[in-house]
Amino acid sequence: DDLGDEQTGTITAHFGQQVGVESADGESMRCHFRATLEQLVVGDRVIWQPPKSEGLGVVEAIEPRHTVLKRPDMYGNLKPVAANVEQMLVVFAPLPTPSSALLDRYLVAAELSDIPATLVLNKADLIDEELRPFIDDMKALYQRLGYPVLEVSAHDSLGLAPLQEALVGKTSVFVGQSGVGKSSLVNAVLPEADLQVGDLSASSGLGQHTTVTARLFHLPTGGELIDSPGIREFGLWHISEDELLHGYRELSDLAGHCKFRNCSHRNEPGCALIMAAESGEISEERLANFYQIADTLDEDGRERYS
Ligand code: GDP
Ligand code: ZN
Repeated sequence: DDLGDEQTGTITAHFGQQVGVESADGESMRCHFRATLEQLVVGDRVIWQPPKSEGLGVVEAIEPRHTVLKRPDMYGNLKPVAANVEQMLVVFAPLPTPSSALLDRYLVAAELSDIPATLVLNKADLIDEELRPFIDDMKALYQRLGYPVLEVSAHDSLGLAPLQEALVGKTSVFVGQSGVGKSSLVNAVLPEADLQVGDLSASSGLGQHTTVTARLFHLPTGGELIDSPGIREFGLWHISEDELLHGYRELSDLAGHCKFRNCSHRNEPGCALIMAAESGEISEERLANFYQIADTLDEDGRERYS
């Protein structure tokens, strides 16, 4: 091969048999990758060699991932979709009507992936006097647990500055239910030109019509955003009830204090979770959500999709 020196880079896009790699000095290039590599995903840090003149570079190796987002493929096997994400922005809104059970699902997924989560309450412009107490209760529930909550409006740019600040210096993803305004928020923080999937310099001229699954964007205010339809719908997949419990920060701390070691936390005397909910130390709503989600897990610890 006619290749230059090995160097480090980041995967910024994936096009089937090729990837977009960004060098440490910010130049992007299309690359092949060694067939022996495990599945490369956007956000991966890699060792690669640029082409000396014409053609594509080659990705040689993947550096260990700090975090991985996974989703089931068409066969139900969990596959990585993004690597080294450092912040999950879980978006919700007054409309569609928010549910703490749904938010919990994203937060549990974040906890189990070891990715710090921040809640983003979008469409703040729709919160009227009547809705305000309900919204504030919801915010308080999560703030008490240590999750920051940002209130924003993608439509009138309200609260956008604190959101942009939260994005600085990190690689983030937006996740959340359809219709909460994720696209609108991505559009609000990224200059429009960036979203029109531009050509990565491809000296080979290949791949005009390839599909981009996910992209890593640089934000003008600093920080990176990894985005794709698949990542926005990132969720809870294939977990056991025990893992689910560990995704509830306040519950996992308590579970060691139950009277019985094999406590199911449903109706046993001396269950630390039930007692804490009764005394108001923890939220009954979160415990109820835990039961509700646990009931959707089948015997194999697999989530039923329907
Ligand atoms: P996504 O499915 O999460 O990507 O949501 P979209 O960004 O497509 O937004 C869904 C709908 O909510 C669209 O009709 C948007 O115009 C609307 N929307 C998004 N952000 C706001 C907002 O801040 N305020 C209001 N009132 N509507 C919004
Ligand atoms: Zn218990």
